[in-house]
Amino acid sequence: MEFLQPRSLPEALAAKADRPEAVPIAGGTDVMVELNFDRRRPEVVLDLTRVPELADWSRSDGGVRVGAGVTYTRMVAELADDLPGLAIAARTVGSPQIRNRGTIGGNLGSASPAGDCHPPLLAVGAEVEVAAPGGSRRILIDEFFTGPKESALAPGELICAVHLPAATGPQQFAKVGTRNAMVIAVCSFALALDPSRGGVGTGIGSAGPTPLRAPAAEEFLQGVLGSEGLWESRGPLGESALGRFGELVAGAARPIDDVRGTAAYRVHALGVMARRTLAWAWDQYRTGRS
Ligand SMILES: Cc1cc2nc3c(=O)[nH]c(=O)nc-3n(C[C@H](O)[C@H](O)[C@H](O)COP(=O)(O)OP(=O)(O)OC[C@H]3O[C@@H](n4cnc5c(N)ncnc54)[C@H](O)[C@@H]3O)c2cc1C
Repeated sequence: MEFLQPRSLPEALAAKADRPEAVPIAGGTDVMVELNFDRRRPEVVLDLTRVPELADWSRSDGGVRVGAGVTYTRMVAELADDLPGLAIAARTVGSPQIRNRGTIGGNLGSASPAGDCHPPLLAVGAEVEVAAPGGSRRILIDEFFTGPKESALAPGELICAVHLPAATGPQQFAKVGTRNAMVIAVCSFALALDPSRGGVGTGIGSAGPTPLRAPAAEEFLQGVLGSEGLWESRGPLGESALGRFGELVAGAARPIDDVRGTAAYRVHALGVMARRTLAWAWDQYRTGRS
């Protein structure tokens, strides 16, 4: 096995363009599992851990650019104010060891429907910055996932960063697993409220061939909050609105039965998580805790 170890982004992009079959490795928490179980035997591995341009995050124009190599531990420690939804999701990933190694770029690179970064990225309309030696492009997160473990990343490209708007309101994430920690989601749900434009964003994990949004639920809640003047009054949200939001999120799921859970359970759990996260987020908004 050839092991390439570029020291800069241009070097890494040149290596990937030259050897499109090279498998990038960041934290290795997905790649090493595949190698250990002999599911993959790449001829070339491209180590990205020495590429400084991928390792950091920065703020600009009301947004945050999170480098592909930023770990879950750093998302929790450094990004909870700007990107609370992503930070809450990062807190639920694996164990401290996995959070120290695993990266946002690796989560996107694997493109699993159960990846915990994906629902919060969908809820805020993130963009994935990918590059090749000729230049970079941004892919809207809604268009990034093209199938189970498949993405719009071209073979000669690398993921460089993710761009997200800084939160202007509460964001929440909930995940159901078969135990409390070290668990891949049976299903998950992210919610982002954006009072600056009266917006509502959603993201569903592990309940479809790709991570999904729930557009009807978003539209419904935007309608209720807007037409009843609730953004301004910060009045209570009725039980019927909470319930209907849950039903619409559950209705957007396209789950299957698998080893982690049944489709019917996932639909039920999503309705409960959607209702709960909305109640938490609205309470945060009303009491000014976001
Ligand atoms: C014990 C355990 C528990 C886990 N728990 C969770 C969990 O709770 N939630 C969850 O979502 N995941 C979990 N995972 C999966 C894994 O930790 C995450 O998907 C993690 O984000 C992968 O990041 P990484 O940097 O380790 O990726 P790697 O393993 O290095 O790479 C993953 C994939 O992305 C590609 N890749 C990496 N970086 C780039 C890049 N810059 N450009 C293009 N392609 C790239 C690689 O080629 C590979 O295909 C767990 C894994 C283990 C082993």
